[in-house]
Amino acid sequence: MVEIPTSTKQHDESRQGEALLLEQDPKKSDGRKLYIESYGCQMNFSDSEIVASILVDKGFETTRDYREADVVFINTCSIRENAEQRVRNRLKEFESAKAKNPGMVVGVLGCMAERLKSKFLEEEKLVDVVVGPDAYRDLPNLIEQVDEGARAVNVLLSREETYADISPVRLNSNGVTAFISIMRGCDNMCSFCVVPFTRGRERSRDPQSIVKEAQDLFMAGYREVTLLGQNVDSYKYAAPATDGGEPEPAINFARLLEMVAQVNPLLRVRFSTSHPKDITDEVLHTIARYENICKYIHLPVQSGNSRVLELMNRTYDREWYMERVDAIRRIIPECGISTDVITGFCSETEEEHRDTLAMMDYVKYDYAYMFAYSERPGTLAAKRYADDIPEEVKKRRLTEVVDKQREHSLGRLQTYVGKVHKVLIEGLSKRSDQDYCGRNDQNSMVVFPADTRYKVGDYVNVYTDRCTSATLIGRIVD
Ligand code: SF4
Repeated sequence: MVEIPTSTKQHDESRQGEALLLEQDPKKSDGRKLYIESYGCQMNFSDSEIVASILVDKGFETTRDYREADVVFINTCSIRENAEQRVRNRLKEFESAKAKNPGMVVGVLGCMAERLKSKFLEEEKLVDVVVGPDAYRDLPNLIEQVDEGARAVNVLLSREETYADISPVRLNSNGVTAFISIMRGCDNMCSFCVVPFTRGRERSRDPQSIVKEAQDLFMAGYREVTLLGQNVDSYKYAAPATDGGEPEPAINFARLLEMVAQVNPLLRVRFSTSHPKDITDEVLHTIARYENICKYIHLPVQSGNSRVLELMNRTYDREWYMERVDAIRRIIPECGISTDVITGFCSETEEEHRDTLAMMDYVKYDYAYMFAYSERPGTLAAKRYADDIPEEVKKRRLTEVVDKQREHSLGRLQTYVGKVHKVLIEGLSKRSDQDYCGRNDQNSMVVFPADTRYKVGDYVNVYTDRCTSATLIGRIVD
């Protein structure tokens, strides 16, 4: 699951329905307008940039206003029931626009499209085209089919597709931070998760194309990249042997991190999501060795109890997870750690719930994404286990987890007060245009008075003298 905590919380429903826009080159456009709205995780937002690139190449231009669009796409999420319900509600809002512009093409992309396939056309009469995460190259052809009066579907999953040759069009970008997807799909089969069914088998992208994308971004003024994957720790790329020679040694995630970090010391590198069973000491030592690889890891735990972890098919137990956290604390003492927690999983007892709270006390996460278990059709859990924890118990346990995390988040932020942090200026603070904002190495948001000597994209040293529950506050020190 790609959960990358940035200032805009990912993969939870709080970041949804963002209309994406790019600076358009009028010469290339044949005037058809494209509107894309994305939900869910960063992988989906990154995919929308691939979709925009494919269609801009065909002469489309993007618009922020779906009412003036010729093609309206929703890039959907299927991770929880309410994520899907939100898409259905949104489709209803497009009905009036389509009534005014009957030639408008309405399409659904992403995980919900892949999960429902052609059933989406039966269930949602407004939808003309349904496209899965591995079929975006076919979009121009599918739109043509709809223009000719058909309704179109392509939900073929691929074992090769990584879109490595397509340079994403940066949408809604602050011009400083960007995402680079390094792999697609997931070979883990966590029993509660739809991703392996909606995004297919794991495949890693050619590292040269990833390094090239990082170099291009750096040349274009970006100063931070986040490497994206459902489970970045299982990244592995073996270049095919040439002229009958021996195949090159495979590139693993530690080596890829190093290659991207060597693009330029001024290019910060972040990544997500890690998997406790695969994160190696080699990766941790690589992070420690490069100043520009950020000291922050998103390490989903999901539960603090070994029996529940086994039911979740997470392939590690409580002790293994704690040993990985100990390794992070030993090798990168200043590292920020965040996580994902699911409460009320099938047959979870009160005592097992308390194991999760105890795990949170053990790690003291900087922040966490916390959800009550939502049974997903087609998953192992839905097939094997009864969703037997009453909603009110799930919710009460979630409240306890959220309260615990609120306490820890503040505690962690307070450990960053009274220190100097290297901060990358990302823009003006949402609260005041007199203030700059940016994140420290540990991915915590820092707000400080703007200073005309510095601009967005510069690194500054900020001394923090206080914090709120979510933000560090300070001033620039030279
Ligand atoms: S199957 Fe597991 S590792 Fe893969 S995306 Fe889902 S939760 Fe993450």
